[in-house]
Amino acid sequence: MKIYDVIIIGAGPAGMTAAIYAIRANMSVLLLDRLSPGGQMVNTNEIENYTGTGKINGAELSMQMFEHTQELGVEFDYKTVRGIRDNGSTKSILCEEEDTVYETRTIILATGTVPRKLGVTGEENFSGSGISWCAICDGAQYRDKDVVVIGGGNSAVEESIYLAGITTSLTIITMFNLTADPKACDQLRSLPNVTVHPYQDILEFTGDGALDGVRFKSTKEDDTEQHVRCDGVFEYIGLEATSESFENLGITNKFGFIEVDDEMSTSIKGIYGAGDITHKKLRQIVTACSDGAIAANSAAKYVESLRA
Ligand SMILES: Cc1cc2nc3c(=O)[nH]c(=O)nc-3n(C[C@H](O)[C@H](O)[C@H](O)COP(=O)(O)OP(=O)(O)OC[C@H]3O[C@@H](n4cnc5c(N)ncnc54)[C@H](O)[C@@H]3O)c2cc1C
Repeated sequence: MKIYDVIIIGAGPAGMTAAIYAIRANMSVLLLDRLSPGGQMVNTNEIENYTGTGKINGAELSMQMFEHTQELGVEFDYKTVRGIRDNGSTKSILCEEEDTVYETRTIILATGTVPRKLGVTGEENFSGSGISWCAICDGAQYRDKDVVVIGGGNSAVEESIYLAGITTSLTIITMFNLTADPKACDQLRSLPNVTVHPYQDILEFTGDGALDGVRFKSTKEDDTEQHVRCDGVFEYIGLEATSESFENLGITNKFGFIEVDDEMSTSIKGIYGAGDITHKKLRQIVTACSDGAIAANSAAKYVESLRA
């Protein structure tokens, strides 16, 4: 059976950049994804902060990155990885499709995250067209409009401060009280166009064709129901790490994110993490690409050391 130098799991910006750096380091490379290449970028309407591209549609940037990997000869396959076995100097990757097993000297895990969702009525309908999980990316679409932010933690509060600067009104609906840093909460509360509704449960997103509001209910004894009209909703109720397929390796923290050092190495020799799946502060395309490049460079050095 062929033993690859590196198998990269996840063809988002981290995985695709890792593939480019790995093949240019003369490694044999296999890039796997269960979905179309691009990761979260595929579902992003407009990306405005990736260096050099200006405003670009996420699917278009995904295709450009993928074409770059293909021009360099990276092997890609649609596979869902369901398990990883560390055999020391080689590793086995088990896939759902026909129980395929691949052998490799190194692995770069670039499986990203998925935004935690509420799972209430209307959420699926308006996902990506009315409901967003990224204010930096989609906030500009709601300039001079009315917006609801769901959540009360640091991300929700920080993104609300940013959004309140461009929207007509901003309403925060949160299950508890605001739990973000007190300074940030004070700053938010001081803004004239912000209303906070603490201790609320979201019941549904309303709208006939287009999103027009959010219905919610108090978690306190009075049980009062309210409806807020809005043009857009941003959900910040957390990110979920996509790490179920390698939980057994013991390289993740209690939230499922991979702990890496500054070379993107995990605690297992030959296994690296890159992009949003790692424990980090800024989850963006540019930081995912940077991680991918570093991880591939580290993997190449490790493969070289195996050959020496
Ligand atoms: C709505 C939205 C808008 C955004 N807009 C911007 C923006 O404008 N600018 C910006 O810089 N950032 C933006 N971001 C953040 C950015 O998309 C992420 O930081 C980036 O995509 C992370 O890249 P990644 O490669 O680490 O992971 P991902 O993009 O999440 O890719 C991970 C890939 O791994 C695959 N995968 C997972 N598990 C498995 C498995 N078991 N087997 C096989 N494949 C698997 C997934 O299918 C996916 O393709 C946005 C995010 C969202 C949600």
